[in-house]
Amino acid sequence: MKIAVIGLGSTGSMALWHLSNIPGVEAIGFEQFGISHGYGAFTGESRLFRMAYHEGSTYVPLLKRARALWSSLSEISGRELFHNFGVLSTGKEDEAPFQRLVESVERYELPHERLTAAQMRKRYPGLDFRDDEAGIVDLQGGALRPELAVFSAIETAKANGAQVRDHQKITSIEDNGDHVVIQAGEETTIVDRVIVTTGSWTSELVPSIAPLLEVRRLVLTWFLPNNPVDFQPENLPCFIRDRDGFHVFGAPCVDGYSIKIAGLDEWGVPLSLDPPMCPR
Ligand SMILES: Cc1cc2nc3c(=O)[nH]c(=O)nc-3n(C[C@H](O)[C@H](O)[C@H](O)COP(=O)(O)OP(=O)(O)OC[C@H]3O[C@@H](n4cnc5c(N)ncnc54)[C@H](O)[C@@H]3O)c2cc1C
Repeated sequence: MKIAVIGLGSTGSMALWHLSNIPGVEAIGFEQFGISHGYGAFTGESRLFRMAYHEGSTYVPLLKRARALWSSLSEISGRELFHNFGVLSTGKEDEAPFQRLVESVERYELPHERLTAAQMRKRYPGLDFRDDEAGIVDLQGGALRPELAVFSAIETAKANGAQVRDHQKITSIEDNGDHVVIQAGEETTIVDRVIVTTGSWTSELVPSIAPLLEVRRLVLTWFLPNNPVDFQPENLPCFIRDRDGFHVFGAPCVDGYSIKIAGLDEWGVPLSLDPPMCPR
């Protein structure tokens, strides 16, 4: 069976890697830009990976599996794709996000530490904590290196025999029942199945789902701290604050000198409503 993956970002690169492991499957991946480019949802140095999950404990089994797969890809590629810095999640103890965090660590007996505001102030002098705030340090969490991860998954897929066509923007997909015709401009490829992982570009390729999608830009920022020592990974884990409807997250100095912070004025609602600024 010949299976195409369209869009080699976070999801597509991993799909291609897994397909390339299945005997009898001929995997072929298409990417409109270069491999591990700078325009995807995956870009920006680090992505927080958490096991203590304020979204709900239902996700924990999936996260356990994901963590094992990140280890496996790190081992195969010989690259450190995951830094086990830990993740500090803070919030008000009586608010739902914090209660879901507690439920996820208790239900699945995840290794963690529970801290008061006073303890957090002492341990993490670079951050500011309110008196009514509590924290949970997820000891299995940390920062993924997304550009390296995408690159490594594609590289591994290629080593397993997958074909990769970069700088090929797919312009149409036509399902003909027993086969699918994929068009990249003038070039046609015929496959048995297609996996569409085009992220925020999906409305262009699958117009029928356009009414369900609204593309917004999520802004990441890096700052040079006055005292960089407080923000080094050995002194500060990744961090998330969820309180009063405000969500902020960041990572310690992965590059040794700058701290990454992103804030949303409400969970899930990005600050900027502009569409992504990338070449079309
Ligand atoms: C700023 C920011 C911070 C985030 N922080 C976190 C975090 O800390 N932890 C976390 O778990 N998640 C985080 N996320 C979410 C996570 O990064 C995304 O959910 C994930 O990267 C989405 O992956 P994707 O494969 O859907 O999209 P993408 O990674 O964007 O991949 C889509 C790919 O499809 C390609 N493509 C599109 N159209 C075509 C076409 N027609 N032909 C060929 N190729 C095409 C694109 O070029 C791109 O490479 C964050 C997201 C953002 C934006």
